Amino acid sequence: VPTYVYQCKSCEVKSEKIQRITDAALKTCEDCGGELRKVMQPVAVSYNCLGFHRTDYPR
Ligand SMILES: [Zn+2]
Repeated sequence: VPTYVYQCKSCEVKSEKIQRITDAALKTCEDCGGELRKVMQPVAVSYNCLGFHRTDYPR
């Protein structure tokens, strides 16, 4: 489930919203009624696939 982070342009309050893709994007702050903008989230990347095994080298 994608989680969107919005930040209010007026009061700078951040709020996380779990939304389906079909849900409409939020545009107004629930606290002050100001304009919201979407904040890009840092993506959690797994580096497991980059691990290689030196011990696999032939002797
Ligand atoms: Zn606000």
